[in-house]
Amino acid sequence: MDEFALIDRYFRRQTVTREDVALGIGDDAAIVVPRSGEQLVAAVDTLVAGRHFPDWFSAAEIGYRALAVNLSDLAAMGAEPRWALLALTLPEVAAAWLDDFSTGFLDLARKHRVALIGGDTTQGPLTISVTLLGVCERALTRAGAMVGDAIFVTGTLGDAALALALDADDDGESAGRLRAHFSRPEPRVAAGLALHDFAHAAIDVSDGLLGDLGHILRASKVGARIDGRCLPTSAAARALFTPERILTAAATGGDDYELLFTAPAQLEASIRDRLAGCDCPVTRIGTIVAGDAFELSGLDGVPMQPARTGFRHFAT
Ligand code: ADP
Ligand code: MG
Repeated sequence: MDEFALIDRYFRRQTVTREDVALGIGDDAAIVVPRSGEQLVAAVDTLVAGRHFPDWFSAAEIGYRALAVNLSDLAAMGAEPRWALLALTLPEVAAAWLDDFSTGFLDLARKHRVALIGGDTTQGPLTISVTLLGVCERALTRAGAMVGDAIFVTGTLGDAALALALDADDDGESAGRLRAHFSRPEPRVAAGLALHDFAHAAIDVSDGLLGDLGHILRASKVGARIDGRCLPTSAAARALFTPERILTAAATGGDDYELLFTAPAQLEASIRDRLAGCDCPVTRIGTIVAGDAFELSGLDGVPMQPARTGFRHFAT
């Protein structure tokens, strides 16, 4: 099967058709037509085999995750995702793998009404790069957090990091739930759109809560106080790990793809209501304070010094 047959067979079979796609897969470039007044929001993320996913990932999980991490970025901007481009580097053409991979990708795309409008297919070490385009009326950025804002996070934290700490032969139900959090994170697209009316600043938690909160604090020129006892953790994590281990994972583990945002504290009830409407749990974990102070209190309520504050490529 050559490159063109492969594209036709696996990536043209998508069922999302959108009126705003003037030209999709098949020409030198795609053409989309945003409505006037809409801001175009763009994000790209690359997954490299052996670096961004472990070898127990199925092809469907890799396809799902490649799109999910981009959906999460657009969610954090309060944007509506619409069009995706897929750059795929494959060591070989393996039909069963491609079938599963494209199914994982296209099923998630369909769920969010994202059209695959183009891409690139090359040979080399397995690498998947997805570009996602969307629109928003007013983007939600990392800047804009205000002194006195409450700090919120959706879902639970630490599950993905704990999945990587599991024994390989642990196949119990809780272990399965933690692994699913890692391989199939739920991008908070509807929550991101709902936050528009409330939030001052937002980011998605991809590198770890403290590292990602640090981005909001620097961009907004404020400090924060976080109560470690309030960090939302899952029943699966609590069934398998000690409270201390879970706190470390929740504070510094990556790959959760939850939304971290700040909003006026008095809006807490409305936020809770609105996010319940899109099936998204939300927890208040702290407060924005003046200056550049940052404090995380531990399980005993005493301020602690976390060892590691997020993942960085090329860090020494
Ligand atoms: P060109 O050589 O002009 O860059 P390609 O041969 O790379 O074009 O691609 C042909 C068409 O197929 C283009 O429309 C491109 O966007 C699309 N395409 C290539 N690879 C993929 C892929 N993995 N998924 C979706 N569309 C793809
Ligand atoms: Mg090309």
